Amino acid sequence: ATFQGMGLSDTMLASLKNACYDTPSPVQAGVIPVALQGKDVLGQARTGTGKTASFGIPILEMLADNGRGAPPQALVLAPTRELAVQVRDEIDKLAHGRKVRTLAVYGGKPIKGQVDKLQRGAEIVVGTPGRVLDLLARGFLVLEQLRCVVLDEADRMLDIGFRPDIEKILRKCPRQRQTLLLSATLAPGVQRLARQYMIEPTMLDF
Ligand code: AMP
Repeated sequence: ATFQGMGLSDTMLASLKNACYDTPSPVQAGVIPVALQGKDVLGQARTGTGKTASFGIPILEMLADNGRGAPPQALVLAPTRELAVQVRDEIDKLAHGRKVRTLAVYGGKPIKGQVDKLQRGAEIVVGTPGRVLDLLARGFLVLEQLRCVVLDEADRMLDIGFRPDIEKILRKCPRQRQTLLLSATLAPGVQRLARQYMIEPTMLDF
């Protein structure tokens, strides 16, 4: 598989060249074409497999120009602050040279700075479920324009006990949206989440 053969935009291909990503990893070769069709994906993939770009690339390809200060179009939920920052950095790398605004939100840090940045507008928000829910409850995070939601390392989020928060967040997402779920294992809890909140997901195993 090649990135060129996936029908990616010239902008995206240029970003990939800039990042020195020459060949898609197996996870990327599997997930990207399906995700680009707008389908839900349930992917079993560990860290270090290039899973971040497997959802980062389709997200960047589907962004619309909604103008400054518009609500986010993609939300990525991640289990920890470290992972949220890492995912944000990876998406930034893939958005090199574009005026896409990404924002990582997580607990253990005053909410004010994150609220300010949200109000200035971010197309892609990456966050831990607790802080995302907090921002939603306070009305700072608006999910009306959301086109894609990603559950990254879903099994770890469930292990930490984030299921109630994740479910509250998903119930506030528009029904018509794409859901991508990545998890190292497809434990029963992960499958239950998929059954309840995804639409005919394509299952991919790596
Ligand atoms: P991840 O599994 O998403 O945490 O990615 C693991 C590492 O591989 C990160 O440092 C990425 O920047 C890098 N990476 C992801 N996709 C590719 C690719 N197609 N070619 C080269 N490096 C990549």
